[in-house]
Amino acid sequence: MSVLSLVNVTLEYPDGSFTLKALDSVDLRVGRGEFLSLVGPSGSGKSSLLAVAATLIKPTSGVVVIDGEDVTAVTEAERTRLRREKVGIIFQQPNLLPSLTAVEQLLFGEHLRGKAARDGRRRAGELLDEVGLSAAANKRPHQLSGGQRQRVNIARALMGEPTVLLVDEPTAALDHERSEAIVRLLRHVTDQFSTATVMVTHDTEFLPLTDSVATMRDGRISRAVVPATLPN
Ligand code: ADP
Ligand code: MG
Repeated sequence: MSVLSLVNVTLEYPDGSFTLKALDSVDLRVGRGEFLSLVGPSGSGKSSLLAVAATLIKPTSGVVVIDGEDVTAVTEAERTRLRREKVGIIFQQPNLLPSLTAVEQLLFGEHLRGKAARDGRRRAGELLDEVGLSAAANKRPHQLSGGQRQRVNIARALMGEPTVLLVDEPTAALDHERSEAIVRLLRHVTDQFSTATVMVTHDTEFLPLTDSVATMRDGRISRAVVPATLPN
């Protein structure tokens, strides 16, 4: 069953006296525990698709359903609640707060969700373990490598137990070895937490670590066959 559905989604931006179709009648379904990669040339609409799926932008037309709820039919306040409860977002730049330790970065989001810090601490510790950072829990961003910062970012996105995990070019700032480790980690957390994960990527060599590939071109989407899985 799909937990993320985009049905006939179109997103238009005003462009002088014209309109630009960033998304053109996009249909996409992603199931629980599915890891989908999204590829396509620059400007083809990949980030727009993630923004719409993340409920950050309301499409011009069409429907977005997350975990059974039509997020295009609710108020702005409801959409914000749904985003906090159901969606994890990971961008290329981790955007960590410079003065907070790794564990505090995770707890900060819990604070915004109105959760008790005590429950959060245990989960934050477990998640930092999960992403291989248990020894770095009390380090601040400047004491971490780029790869470690991206791991904190991933753990932070998982704090709210999201149903949907949206990842925009997570490896663009990393070298090859660290990039592969990050994509393998995203594979692991998708399996471990059964998220519906969509990752925008330029690294076509890592596509076999994902379950399926969708390609965007001029705001339109097409889905390809599942690639063969790489040995671990
Ligand atoms: P990608 O992530 O594949 O590079 P984007 O989703 O960022 O593509 O952009 C798709 C199209 O929408 C591009 O033509 C881009 O210039 C346009 N676009 C993106 N964001 C905006 C915006 N806020 N206002 C106007 N046009 C935009
Ligand atoms: Mg983009």
